[in-house]
Amino acid sequence: DLALSRGQPFHIHEDTDSAIVEDELSLLSDLDNALLAGDVSVVYQPKLDLSSGVITSAEALVRWNHSTRGPLRPDYFIPIVEKSDRICSLTIYVLRRAIADLKLWNTGCPALRVAVNISATLLESPAFMDELQIVLQDTGVEPQNLIFEVTESATMTGHDRAAEALLALKEIGIAISVDDYGTGQSTLTYLKKLTLDELKIDRSFVEHAHQNRSDAVLVRSTIDMAHELGLKVVAEGVETAECLDFLRSVGCDMAQGYLISRPVPPSRFGELLAEYRLAA
Ligand code: C2E
Ligand code: MG
Ligand code: MG
Ligand code: MG
Repeated sequence: DLALSRGQPFHIHEDTDSAIVEDELSLLSDLDNALLAGDVSVVYQPKLDLSSGVITSAEALVRWNHSTRGPLRPDYFIPIVEKSDRICSLTIYVLRRAIADLKLWNTGCPALRVAVNISATLLESPAFMDELQIVLQDTGVEPQNLIFEVTESATMTGHDRAAEALLALKEIGIAISVDDYGTGQSTLTYLKKLTLDELKIDRSFVEHAHQNRSDAVLVRSTIDMAHELGLKVVAEGVETAECLDFLRSVGCDMAQGYLISRPVPPSRFGELLAEYRLAA
């Protein structure tokens, strides 16, 4: 084990396709201190319900302000952290923060839910499922107030373990959302079998749907099929009013994107909740 032979106190998955390099090992070894030092934080982006005009959930998005390298993008560090079992502790950290923030917002908005991004590997990790149970007990959060966003590829590993984990989460009462839908190869029939709750159409299809005929067809037919299967649909990456109008016209349930709000710190999210409730 490369990591242990270097004296690093974490385990590197051996079944990853890309080799872990020096730079990545040093980043991984920085993570524990970063968590303790408060360099890792969570920002939230609202999902807006298009029929009521109310914010129904908050997606938690992790941020790492590295002590020497400055702000790091999750697109950069998450794939690295996912190569080690540190993804479990990072996700649990984000989940605990999200539940704490939810408790503050929930005083004025009891139906609000918080969505956390869950890496595919965690669905097959008994350690993660154990940690999750502990968090649920410690915090007393209603599982119904939690959404786990898993990417389409995560639901499609073909591994029974992942499907079983999704079912177990469902039984606990946690809603499952398919993130970045359209970028993998899953069929809606397969998605139905997994008893999912929400489908998020990837930004790449949403951004041009109001001006590009084939994207419009894809978005509209995805929404129709998802509805037939009883799933709610979220469009991600909504940046223009034209795009939002189009989504309304094709019956999309929820929208997320810079037009509504960029990801914001928890205090600002509380203000957003109030502003949208007044406007609704
Ligand atoms: P995602 O879950 O699909 O999140 C959406 C990403 O798109 C976020 O980037 C968000 O800031 C960005 N975004 C939202 N609206 C718009 C828009 O209108 N236009 C554009 N151009 N972008 C928009 P972010 O925060 O950098 O996160 C990137 C990805 O990193 C996430 O994609 C997710 O896959 C991953 N990620 C973030 N936080 C976590 C986490 O706590 N755990 C795990 N496992 N992954 C995370
Ligand atoms: Mg997401
Ligand atoms: Mg997404
Ligand atoms: Mg994405």
